[in-house]
Amino acid sequence: MSNILIVDDIAKNIQLIANVLKEFNYNLFFARNAYEAYDVLEKNTINLILLDVMMPEVDGFSAAKVIKSNDKDKDIPIIFITAKNDDESILKAYEVGGVDYITIPFRNVEFITRVRTHLEIAHLNQKLKDQASAMKELASTDTLTKIPNRLKFNSIFEYQIKISKRYKKSLSLIFFDIDFFKKFNDNYGHSVGDIVLIELSKKVNSCLREADALCRWGGEEFVIILPETTDVTAFETAQKLRECISKMKIDNKYTLTCSFGVSTLKEGDYSHTFLTRADDALYKAKNNGRNRVEVLL
Ligand code: GH3
Ligand code: MG
Ligand code: MG
Repeated sequence: MSNILIVDDIAKNIQLIANVLKEFNYNLFFARNAYEAYDVLEKNTINLILLDVMMPEVDGFSAAKVIKSNDKDKDIPIIFITAKNDDESILKAYEVGGVDYITIPFRNVEFITRVRTHLEIAHLNQKLKDQASAMKELASTDTLTKIPNRLKFNSIFEYQIKISKRYKKSLSLIFFDIDFFKKFNDNYGHSVGDIVLIELSKKVNSCLREADALCRWGGEEFVIILPETTDVTAFETAQKLRECISKMKIDNKYTLTCSFGVSTLKEGDYSHTFLTRADDALYKAKNNGRNRVEVLL
């Protein structure tokens, strides 16, 4: 059921509008001035506002501007209802964010149809926005492990490099890769391998700080962005993770190890040079016997 707020300083006008709407299934809220309207908006979820233009102290246009500047309320459709029908007022109504302008006296059938239409449009808009944000979430999340995927990694990474350069803060990267995972899959099956990837992600995440971002780079390779972290701390973190993983017993029986490459952003770095260095460090860890951490500065 939709919630409609009627704002008018004249009780007779509120009564007139309420009489038309009461035959339909709406929850009606009333306000006699802008301040009462803000108060109703703060305490309730309103789907549509019917706003008078001429009110003492704060007029409808000014009230609309305030409502539209509030993040929570900016998408609520505002229909102006007024006896004023000069061109300037009509233009102004749309300029301040109104979606419609109805002059008094109105034909009931036209009034109710316009109210319904704007409720419907607002509802569809909200649905589209929700779907878009769900799609965005889906596109940036790895389906298996539910951690950020490579696409999301790229955006976090570029952002953190910018912050780090601007505020002269350290930034480190840890690349890690499961050792001999192909053999693991061959021995226990791909679905057990999948469980391992899920459990491993959970474990690593539980060992990291809130600000650190664990992402799936692809396959059995992961990357961690560590803001405000020096090479020494990143190395210690990687060592801690390496130890922690090697002691893990997934499903009480499966064990595994990982190799780690660590690097820290330095003067003159680009995202790709920084990334390549951390990847080279991982390659070195593999070559030097696996289940170990290597740092390249
Ligand atoms: P290394 O120590 O050199 O990293 O050896 P490795 O066997 O781990 O490396 P390789 O690149 O030869 O094999 C990677 C394996 O990871 C092969 C592939 O089946 C497995 N893998 C990649 N993604 C997934 C996945 O989503 N699920 C499962 N179960 N296995 C995966
Ligand atoms: Mg008035
Ligand atoms: Mg591997």
